[in-house]
Amino acid sequence: MAKNVDVAIIGGGIMGTSIAYHLAKRGMKDVVIFEREEALGTGSTGKCAGGVRLQFSTAANIEMSRISIAAFERFEEEMDESVDFKRNGYLFVLTNESDLEAFRANAKQQRQMGVPVDVLTPEEARGVVAELFIDDLVGATFCGADGIANPHAIVQGYAKNAHRLGVNIVRSSEVSGVEVAGGRVRTIIAGGERWETQWVVNAAGPWAKGVGEMAGVNVPVEPVRRQYFLTQPMPWIAETFPLLIDWGTGVYMHRESGGMLIGESDPNEPPSFNQQVDWDFLARVGEHAIARVPRVEEAEIQNAVAGLYEVSPDHNAIIGKVPELENFVCANGFSGHGMQHAPAVGLALAELIVDGRSSSVELEPYRIERFQEDAVPELNVI
Ligand SMILES: Cc1cc2nc3c(=O)[nH]c(=O)nc-3n(C[C@H](O)[C@H](O)[C@H](O)COP(=O)(O)OP(=O)(O)OC[C@H]3O[C@@H](n4cnc5c(N)ncnc54)[C@H](O)[C@@H]3O)c2cc1C
Repeated sequence: MAKNVDVAIIGGGIMGTSIAYHLAKRGMKDVVIFEREEALGTGSTGKCAGGVRLQFSTAANIEMSRISIAAFERFEEEMDESVDFKRNGYLFVLTNESDLEAFRANAKQQRQMGVPVDVLTPEEARGVVAELFIDDLVGATFCGADGIANPHAIVQGYAKNAHRLGVNIVRSSEVSGVEVAGGRVRTIIAGGERWETQWVVNAAGPWAKGVGEMAGVNVPVEPVRRQYFLTQPMPWIAETFPLLIDWGTGVYMHRESGGMLIGESDPNEPPSFNQQVDWDFLARVGEHAIARVPRVEEAEIQNAVAGLYEVSPDHNAIIGKVPELENFVCANGFSGHGMQHAPAVGLALAELIVDGRSSSVELEPYRIERFQEDAVPELNVI
């Protein structure tokens, strides 16, 4: 005998839990999250570096950040869960004129949308981070409204409140089949059981493509390993240290538990599900970090993290319905910025499912059909 549900959400990471919470808040009764692991948030979400920023290159992503940041600001009051949202800003530092021109153009658009971003001289950038090496810089951008938050607490808050509102969270339950008939998903197989459903949401993070394949839908998302290193506490790191990104090398760092979280994207990393730490990579990350902030040389490495980005062809998310099936919804391909957009995505997809369209977020730029057209890529990706 199959069980009946209104919405089956595949994946209990930050997306699945946010979507479930927002659906339940809108009064949806039979919402189920299926998570194959024993715990929620152990996928990409569990490896997240916590960055939250308004400094994106497309208007759509800036708007998603704006909605999400407002949600993080009221999270504790609404969810009874502190997400440690610290607004120390993002400082992008730039070493060549063409990057400076591109960031100047982005800053213009961001300011038109009300984002408090400034283009800085190298000396002004050193006013934000006193330890910065600036001799090779041509400029920087800084937005003090950007910051970092705790992804584990966000998942916890969404899951706790989704459960309170009646969402069924089924752990250790892998979705292994999706049955389709007449242009609709009819049934999913989870943990060996059959569940008839009105809607299916693919919130499977780096595993989204495989979930799409079960339903005969091509979700163009590839898993790509990303790594960062955590240092022992260092007294010289100011409480106000921002999230610093050296755009030329891609190395980034922010204050974490009194020490530093230091990461870098390897452009040569091939798509794979490899989540093993490559300690050889530390030499390159360390070299770039020390070149930008020489005092990092004093750091002792205490830990390392390797996780998976869920990368789409244009580094923008895939959000909404698919043309092949009328009740299959994607929340995929966030390409390294999914944590910070989870509140907006949850809100938008609850509106899509309950009202038939999203009124809070313009989902047009995130349509899956764009890959057959001319997609506008997100440029500010690390
Ligand atoms: C190193 C690193 C740093 C990052 N830094 C940032 C950052 O600073 N800021 C930011 O905004 N984002 C960052 N991200 C990206 C962010 O973590 C992701 O975009 C976000 O967590 C995606 O959430 P998700 O819920 O879609 O995926 P996930 O958290 O991966 O959740 C998907 C879940 O689906 C489950 N699942 C998969 N297949 C099935 C199945 N068949 N049946 C049942 N369950 C299934 C998985 O077990 C998993 O728990 C970073 C990512 C990494 C790896």
